[in-house]
Amino acid sequence: MQVIDTPAMRPATLDAFLTLIGPERAGRLRDAARRLRGGLDGGTLWHVNSTATGGGVAEMLYVLVPLYRALGVPTRWAVVDGDTAFFDITKRLGNLAYGSTADADLLRPGDLEGYTGHLAGEAEELRAVLRPGDVLLLHDHQTAGLVPLLSAETAGIYWRCHVGVDEPTDGSRRAWAALAPLLDKANGVIFSVAAHLPAELSGHRVAIIPPVLWPFAPKNQHLPAGQLPGLLDRCGLGGPGTVPGYVLADGHRDPAEPLVVQVSRWDRLKDMHAVLTGFGAVPDAQLALIGPDPASIPDDIEQAHWFDVCRTTWTALPDRLRHRTRLVCLPMHDLDDNARLVNAAQRAADVVVQKSLAEGFGLTVTEAMWKARPVVGSAVGGIAAQIEHGATGLLLDDPHDLAAFAALVTRLTSGATDGAALGRRARARVHDAYLPDTDLRAVTGLLCA
Ligand code: UDP
Repeated sequence: MQVIDTPAMRPATLDAFLTLIGPERAGRLRDAARRLRGGLDGGTLWHVNSTATGGGVAEMLYVLVPLYRALGVPTRWAVVDGDTAFFDITKRLGNLAYGSTADADLLRPGDLEGYTGHLAGEAEELRAVLRPGDVLLLHDHQTAGLVPLLSAETAGIYWRCHVGVDEPTDGSRRAWAALAPLLDKANGVIFSVAAHLPAELSGHRVAIIPPVLWPFAPKNQHLPAGQLPGLLDRCGLGGPGTVPGYVLADGHRDPAEPLVVQVSRWDRLKDMHAVLTGFGAVPDAQLALIGPDPASIPDDIEQAHWFDVCRTTWTALPDRLRHRTRLVCLPMHDLDDNARLVNAAQRAADVVVQKSLAEGFGLTVTEAMWKARPVVGSAVGGIAAQIEHGATGLLLDDPHDLAAFAALVTRLTSGATDGAALGRRARARVHDAYLPDTDLRAVTGLLCA
C-alpha cells in the first residue's frame, strides 16, 4: 500500500475553475464542501484504488483529491499494491464484470481466497494510517474485498464501480456473485451510469455519479493556435508528406477532406478494426485511429493483439480506402506530451467517433464534447448517458451495424447535419454535467444524507 502525495491545487487554478462554473454553482460547491467537512467531523475521506498511473480512475483522483483539499475537505489517496497473482484474478474479475463469457476469464478454485488473503495484508497497512472518524471510498473490484476487512474500524465505507454492462451476461452474473457478498457492509455504492447497477446490489444505498473532466488538464486545456500544427504533424495529421514515427500511413492525407478521429486503447470493446472497414462507406473523408504505442505497455498483451488486428485489416484495405485512413500510435513515456497530442487530434477532428461495443463511461466522448466536436457514439453504457441523439451528438443504436455507422458519420462529414450546433450543445452539456463540482456535490449527498 502506498499513500499518494498529490500536488496542492494552485489558488489561481481554483479561482479559474470557480469562474468557469459561475458564482451560483461556485456557491453550491462551497456549501457542499462545508457540509462534507462537517459530516467528516475531523475525519479524512480516503480514496483507495489499485494504481497511481494509467486508467481513468487515477486520472480523476489526480484532479479530485487536490480540488477537495483546496475546498477544505480533508482528503487523501492510497493505492493498494498487488502481485502478478492478485492482478491476474482482478483482471479476470474485471473482464467478467464487463460481461466476458470467455473460459479464460472464469474464476478458479482458490481465486477468491487468494484475493481476500492478499487484501488482508493491504488492510493491515491501511490500518496504520487510518485515524478514528476516517471514511473510505474504495474504487472498483480490486478494492471491494477491503469492505469486510475494514468496515468495523471506519466511520463509513463506500464502494465506487467504474465498470459494467447494460444487459447482464453469464460472465457479469459470475462477477457479481463473487463481489456482492463482499459489499454487504458497505454504507453505499456508486455507479457511473444507472444501467450498470446489478440486481445483486439493489438493496444498497446507491448514487449515480459520472466521472468528470478537468478543463485545465493538458488533454483538455485550450491550445494556442501556434502549437497546433507542430502537434498535428507529430500525429501524422499535418497534411501530405508528414509521416512521423508513430503513424502507420502512406502520407496521402488530403487536408481538404473532413477528418474523422477515434481515440482509444487498442481493445476488443473499442472495435477499431470495424471502424476501419465501416469507413469504406463514408465518401470523401479521412480517418485517423489513434491509440497508445502498444510497445509502451508490454504487460497488456491484449493491446498488442488488437493493434495487430487493426494493422492487418488496414493493410488489406482497397488502395483508395487505405490512402484515406491511418493508424496512429502515440508514445506514452511522457504522459503530458501524450495528453497534448490527444488534445490536438481531438480539436483537429471534424467528427469524433467512439464505436465501442460496451463502455463503462467513455471519457474520450466527454473530452471531444468539451472541445465542441460533434460525436458519433454507440448507444451503450456511459456514451448513451452523455449524448442525447440529435441534440448533443449522434447515437448508433446497434454498434455492430456498420452501414448505420457510416450513414451517421456521413451526415456530419457531408454537412447534412449541422455538426457545429451539435458541438456547441455538447460543450454546454459537459459544462453542466461533467465538471468536478458535480462529483463533490453528489458525494456529499451520499455521505451526508
Ligand atoms: N487515451 C490517451 N492516449 C491514448 C488513448 C487513450 O490518453 O493513446 C486516454 C483518453 O484520452 C481517455 C482515456 O485514455 O482519457 C480512456 O478513457 P475511456 O473512459 O474513454 O476508456 P477506457 O480506456 O477507460 O476504457
